[in-house]
Amino acid sequence: MPNRRSFLKTSAASLPLVTAIQTVNPAAISVETIADVAISGQAPKLIPLPARLAPVDPSTLPWQQKIRRVGQSNMTEHDPAVMNIEDWADYWHSAGADIVFISVTGILAFYPSKVQFHRHGKFLNGRDFFGECVAAARKRGMRVVARMSPDLNWGDALDAHPEWAMRDGDGSVLLSSEDSRLFRTCMFTNYMDDYVPAIMREINSLYEVDCFYTNGWPPIGSLPNCHCSVCSRLPPPNTTAYWRAFNDRVLQLWNKYDAIAKEKKPDSFYFANLGGNVRCGPNLDRLGRTAVWFQADNQGRSSDDPAIWGCSLQGRVCNAVMDGQFAANVSAAYSTGTVRWRNAAKNPAEAKMWLNETLASGMALYYHFIGSEAGFGEDRRWQKLGSDYFQWARRHDAHLTPRRSLANIGVIMGQSTQLLYPVPAAAHAHDYMRETTHGIYAALLNGRFAFDFVHEDRLDLERIRKYRALLLPNIAVLSERQCQQIRDYVRFGGSIIASFETGLYDENVQRREEFALGDLLGISKAEDMIGTNGNAFYARIERSHPILDGFSNTNWLPGAQNRVPVKSVPDPVLTVVPGFVQYPPELAYPPVSHTQEPAVVLREVASSRLAYFPGDIERTFWLTGHGDLLRLLHNTVRWVTQDQALVHVDGDGFLEFFAWETAPGYAIHLLNYTNPNAHHGWLSTVYPLGPQTVNMTLPSGVKVKAVDLLRSDRRIPFRLEGSVLHFTIPRVDDYEIAAVTVV
Ligand SMILES: [Zn+2]
Repeated sequence: MPNRRSFLKTSAASLPLVTAIQTVNPAAISVETIADVAISGQAPKLIPLPARLAPVDPSTLPWQQKIRRVGQSNMTEHDPAVMNIEDWADYWHSAGADIVFISVTGILAFYPSKVQFHRHGKFLNGRDFFGECVAAARKRGMRVVARMSPDLNWGDALDAHPEWAMRDGDGSVLLSSEDSRLFRTCMFTNYMDDYVPAIMREINSLYEVDCFYTNGWPPIGSLPNCHCSVCSRLPPPNTTAYWRAFNDRVLQLWNKYDAIAKEKKPDSFYFANLGGNVRCGPNLDRLGRTAVWFQADNQGRSSDDPAIWGCSLQGRVCNAVMDGQFAANVSAAYSTGTVRWRNAAKNPAEAKMWLNETLASGMALYYHFIGSEAGFGEDRRWQKLGSDYFQWARRHDAHLTPRRSLANIGVIMGQSTQLLYPVPAAAHAHDYMRETTHGIYAALLNGRFAFDFVHEDRLDLERIRKYRALLLPNIAVLSERQCQQIRDYVRFGGSIIASFETGLYDENVQRREEFALGDLLGISKAEDMIGTNGNAFYARIERSHPILDGFSNTNWLPGAQNRVPVKSVPDPVLTVVPGFVQYPPELAYPPVSHTQEPAVVLREVASSRLAYFPGDIERTFWLTGHGDLLRLLHNTVRWVTQDQALVHVDGDGFLEFFAWETAPGYAIHLLNYTNPNAHHGWLSTVYPLGPQTVNMTLPSGVKVKAVDLLRSDRRIPFRLEGSVLHFTIPRVDDYEIAAVTVV
């Protein structure tokens, strides 16, 4: 079968597109495949992989760094009456779990707690259920996480401590949305200073546990909005000052709980629930310097965030902030989503893809189910899938433990922008930046670019010099310091793509009169942001340029939904045709068909290439799927990176790939998203992909011993041309890993 590029070279010109695509692969055509095939271009220039990292002696690593599989049967109040502890422990042990979560809680005690207001579960009957589970796990050599939940408590606690509750603007107590007997506790009150430590110390005094974890806190994906007497003295919600106070409090409690965990053993620690990927509540730069376990509570897709890569997006965030510390993603075996069945298994193909994404993006496996009715679950279908997967992975731990990402593009994740940026008035704040993130993510996957996320507070040159380009997809909030770091990066030779309101807000989310990176990007604001009423704006082609490769027979390209008008520049490549009426069609023509307003601004400074799009192009691509926007983004990425890549994966289909340096060599992970359920519902069937060719240039002195496919369990031939390694993965079902062993 011809590959995508040779096919385009030989036959695309002579066939209508749809016919041509069907010739390539009549079995499985998707919109993504069409978009992928539609993007032409030469194979990138391979630049050599960096010199290999020095080996690490595993005995020097803290114990949690060696955890590869985490098991959790999340315990319900009823479980002490129904759960078969031996079945539970046997299952996780035989699956190969290194560690299990066991519930202490804080909402309900699973042991005879003497801490006031730590209510015993009504089926506990004086039994030490927690202690029995700990003993069963220990007997089998599994480590134990003591799981707590500080987020809710009962009426008797509220009567005695009305100050513990979160409160509404009118002073009323905030209750659990599902069970009004429970009130929501406020993280700024003594509840967190007194009640939670009392439980931790009681556990330390009675049991051998390896570490402590709190569920339900800190909040995921948003910041609290509480009007209790403590919170009333804090800065107003949704301001940078509030976010700082929130982060200070999270770190204060985190460090306090960590110190309590260590009172018993120095290698114990505390960690909390995180997640929300780029929109995590706590500042991930600060937290990444403290946490030794990133618990990514990103359990499955929902209809309001249906992108298939939800888990690997989270993995990229962990990779950006954890500097090699432990991260695990909680994959729900149960039915996640907008409509939930927390005690019934989900589609196996969907559950498996979440585990695939966990591994591919560099996190440790974590499999999770809720409740153990009837001994060990009324629905036990999830169990074989989990144990088969764990046992397969266990055979390949060395290849599945990444050491370093092999990407040459960094996408800045603006956590402040994600949380605090005042988006265009017509849009919903939470959705707006999510759409932006998915837009750039989808575009990079479609173009098979290898990329990392880079946290906005980690822009020091030492960290970012490895990237040929940094992308700033509407990173609206940037401090002067961050802007200076970006300037330093460009002076060092790095390239930039920025869009829309990037740098139009300072670190306190105060609007600037001018773009903070205007000097660098060669732009100056002409007017405030303009949205769309009718037809969105167009971009008129003024002259040829590599970012316009592949466009022919048109003077106009689509623009974006929103734009910041910028002042004219000499010799523009694209100019704005302002939006106009789309209905009635009688009026659907441009009153002004030619302006001097640029629709892209391009600069070259020494070896740096800089591109600025005034429109919210990434998000508009996500909303529309317009192939012109995709091509424009791809061409621009290729132009700013001078078409350089470390690893090139060529073949048909829509996939996500990760390339890692590992202790034995390298691992190339391919996730097959070519599926009608990539962005709606769950995967139910796998649509296999044909051959994928991998090319990379090895560092000098490195020789290849073998290339093994870990999912299909076979060794494949490879070819070396000088130091360039080539091999072909003949087929990808849902997931494949090519493990390169070097000598
Ligand atoms: Zn409060």
